[in-house]
Amino acid sequence: MLWGRCSSKYIAKFMTVAHFKSKGLKRSSPRPAKALCSDCGLCDTYYIHYVKEACAFLNQQVAELEQQAHGQSRDLDSEDDWYFGVHQQMLTARKKDPIPGAQWTGIVSTIGIEMLNRGLVEGVVCVQNTPEDRFQPMPVIARTPEDILAARVNKPTLSPNLSILEQIEQSGLKRLLVIGVGCQIQALRSVQDKLGLEKLYVLGTPCVDNVPRDGLQKFLETTSKSPETVVSYEFMQDFRVHFKHEDGSEEQVPFFGLKTDKLKNIFAPSCMSCFDYVNSLADLVVGYMGSPYGWQWVVVRNETGQEMLDLVMDQLKTQPVMSEGDRKSAVQNSIPAYDKGVTLPMWAAKLMGVVIDRIGPRGLEYARFSIDSHFTRNYLYVKRNYPEKLEGHVPAYAQKIVEQYTLPD
Ligand SMILES: Cc1cc2nc3c(=O)[nH]c(=O)nc-3n(C[C@H](O)[C@H](O)[C@H](O)COP(=O)(O)OP(=O)(O)OC[C@H]3O[C@@H](n4cnc5c(N)ncnc54)[C@H](O)[C@@H]3O)c2cc1C
Repeated sequence: MLWGRCSSKYIAKFMTVAHFKSKGLKRSSPRPAKALCSDCGLCDTYYIHYVKEACAFLNQQVAELEQQAHGQSRDLDSEDDWYFGVHQQMLTARKKDPIPGAQWTGIVSTIGIEMLNRGLVEGVVCVQNTPEDRFQPMPVIARTPEDILAARVNKPTLSPNLSILEQIEQSGLKRLLVIGVGCQIQALRSVQDKLGLEKLYVLGTPCVDNVPRDGLQKFLETTSKSPETVVSYEFMQDFRVHFKHEDGSEEQVPFFGLKTDKLKNIFAPSCMSCFDYVNSLADLVVGYMGSPYGWQWVVVRNETGQEMLDLVMDQLKTQPVMSEGDRKSAVQNSIPAYDKGVTLPMWAAKLMGVVIDRIGPRGLEYARFSIDSHFTRNYLYVKRNYPEKLEGHVPAYAQKIVEQYTLPD
């Protein structure tokens, strides 16, 4: 049995290496998911062997993996479940003492550090950047708090986090925390029992509209006044993109002023086909979109996630989640506008931003607004570009969300 497992694994490894050598392939070569590859990193390892089952874009299996990870899948009679996935609780939080340079207040990095310091895990999979480029992701297995801190802040590009899977096995690590976005975590969940781990903790972030590195450059150049000095940015709950620059200054650009006609093609096809915005398979999710402006949004999916959150509760200010406004007409109106690539003049965009910030959706309703807008857009994208995949690829909860709206052909 053991030989059987080892031999198939090493044959797979040998075949992968041999295949890459014989074809002289590089990382950018076509992958089994072809244009829909999100570059999660699985196919850079001998675990490519499992790609047909594991890849989020070849095999949509959210409900089955939810059952495996959380002991239950989404309750399709509960609207909160359609939107936010299986959860035990949601809350709004921020660190009392934020980590300078973190994307938000550094809850994610703090959880990683606590888990390492308390010996719950021996390593943390996270993403640093290359020495040459602050936005070029470099996945690592962090073994010290300094390594985790060096991974703080988003690298807003596709990141091959799972390319370190072979290192996990080779290093003999038994207790591991993986930090990642939805497509990475779906593939990880599919192969997790092959990694030889005693305990896996998964800390997820929501993720949407990710881009390859050249797409990011185009976004920065099209949207920011000083693209070369941007250190981070976020599509904020106040309907503006906030850019932070090297000198500490902040630049704000209203969503409605984005040059959608120019930016339409920068998003990765995988992200245009993704229906796992909220990272359904992580034990604990830390984002911002379900919380009011300035706060982070925390979703505890299972006992393991609660255990992780408990480690840092004394370092957090918290509030219950809230929800205000009605997103539905804004979403419905935005569907044809996005489809036609409508861009408002900047004065109108700013005005619209101010108005919608005053009366628009907040808290969980803002999260629903963002999920609805992206799922309707992505549904149309899959329908038009991959009609043969539509039925199997769109999960039942996403189908329910999309059905609330009238879509163009
Ligand atoms: C690509 C991306 C898109 C996101 N989109 C949304 C969104 O639409 N809505 C929302 O609510 N939240 C989103 N988030 C999450 C949010 O922006 C913050 O990352 C989250 O709230 C944690 O903030 P923090 O200060 O606690 O993180 P920090 O302490 O700064 O830690 C950030 C962590 O993110 C990891 N990371 C960085 N880049 C990547 C990457 N490319 N892939 C995987 N992991 C990475 C790092 O390893 C690091 O551990 C996104 C995150 C990423 C990485």
